[in-house]
Amino acid sequence: MNYQCIIDQQRHFFNTNTTKDIPFRIKQLKHLKDILKKNETLLYESIYSDFKKSEFETYTTELSIIYHEIDLAIAKIKKWAKKKKVSTGLANLPGTSYIIPEPYGTILVIGAWNYPYQLSLCPAIAAIAAGCTVVLKPSEISSHTSATMAALINQNFDPSFFKVIEGGVKETTNILGVKFDKIFFTGSVNVGQIIYLAAAKHLTPVTLELGGKSPAIITEGIDIDMTAKRLVWAKFLNAGQTCIAPDYVLVASTILDQFLVAVKKHIKNANYGISNHNYTQIINDKNFNRLYNLIDPNKVYFGGGNNPKERVIFPTVLTNIEFSDKVMQEEIFGPILPILTFQNIEDAIKKVKSLPKPLSCYIFTKNKVIKNKILKEISFGGGAVNDAVMHFAEQSLPFGGVGDSGIGSYHGKYGFETFSHYKSILQKSFWIEPNLKYAPYSSSKLKWLKWLIG
Ligand code: NAD
Repeated sequence: MNYQCIIDQQRHFFNTNTTKDIPFRIKQLKHLKDILKKNETLLYESIYSDFKKSEFETYTTELSIIYHEIDLAIAKIKKWAKKKKVSTGLANLPGTSYIIPEPYGTILVIGAWNYPYQLSLCPAIAAIAAGCTVVLKPSEISSHTSATMAALINQNFDPSFFKVIEGGVKETTNILGVKFDKIFFTGSVNVGQIIYLAAAKHLTPVTLELGGKSPAIITEGIDIDMTAKRLVWAKFLNAGQTCIAPDYVLVASTILDQFLVAVKKHIKNANYGISNHNYTQIINDKNFNRLYNLIDPNKVYFGGGNNPKERVIFPTVLTNIEFSDKVMQEEIFGPILPILTFQNIEDAIKKVKSLPKPLSCYIFTKNKVIKNKILKEISFGGGAVNDAVMHFAEQSLPFGGVGDSGIGSYHGKYGFETFSHYKSILQKSFWIEPNLKYAPYSSSKLKWLKWLIG
């Protein structure tokens, strides 16, 4: 495939200024929603073929998020795209200052496989809302969903505006050889570095939505049962293949036993299984084997079972874990929950801070001082107090990482901003021009200037 030709077409179309019309953007977003709605059955079937994800989870964690992003953008584009007047300093009076959001141009979105629809389409929606053209490269690992997105988008949109290109490392490497106006990448830290390097060659700005080890810190005095219920849901959703899943738990040693009992109870209550559509497969054999090797049988408190034929690893809780254990050396990205303990909160904070900045952090506490201490001292992308994962669904919050967990953010208005350049304009009239700044300079001019502008 001639990628340069596709990008040239998109750039040409962008330069016709069609995408800068708000009604055009709204029309395209409505069209996208219509296509997805009409083809929901196909979307459910494809994701089930990839990793047996149920209709329930596909709707709640993929489609509903996409629909909400489209609806919000349609309702707010006019407001987001408005030029914003700002104050003008004395040095530029009489004059006005304003900021115009302008679309970056031609965007490359590279998606991950774990939530293949929303991680590909939500950035594309934000880019369209901002007035850009989009090339979308979904993950080849979730091949059925990739093919479905390619079919639906490519049959229903003009390729010079919105085009899906399928492929793996080879194709993505070739696409990255072409200059885009912005690259939005979701995936691993290692590949994020490759994308960043490739973008640097063209001075292309990037948003990198990466991963890492997201902790859940649990103190004394909480509602243990509700904490366990929320954490179990957040961890085993999508069989733990969630970038913001609590990777590991740090619990106050005084409540460890009660917490473990509650965790076991809620895993049992959830009745996780593939045949009853309450659970999800591991995406492929490579990941199945990687996860299998992270489980130390001597440290299994609950679970530990698997079914290689079905690529299932049952919810597994590990105890007596140290930071030096194998399971603590990499992002787990699967249904294994290591539980570590702490005696005092300073130690827990120190340990979390010894690792790269996480994408998320969850704090379960009723103690305001501890909550504020953690929020102040640990740097992380985003998170929740007394809950986990649900901050992702809050459209009024920017979603993104910091440090090793990413660069930039999106969702709602923040997605629009991610694909917009904010053009600063100072506008003057011709009716007056004080002579103060012009040569020949003099000490009296300098005196006046100091008095006027400080
Ligand atoms: P990945 O980095 O392997 O792949 C992501 C994308 O990059 C895919 O489209 C793939 O085709 C492409 N790619 C892979 N290798 C490449 C290379 N050498 N050159 C160019 N492109 C390449 O990630 P994944 O396995 O799809 O996803 C898992 C990772 O993504 C985890 O670390 C997870 O935490 C992270 N993630 C982050 C978010 C977030 O929103 N921050 C969301 C989902 C997943």
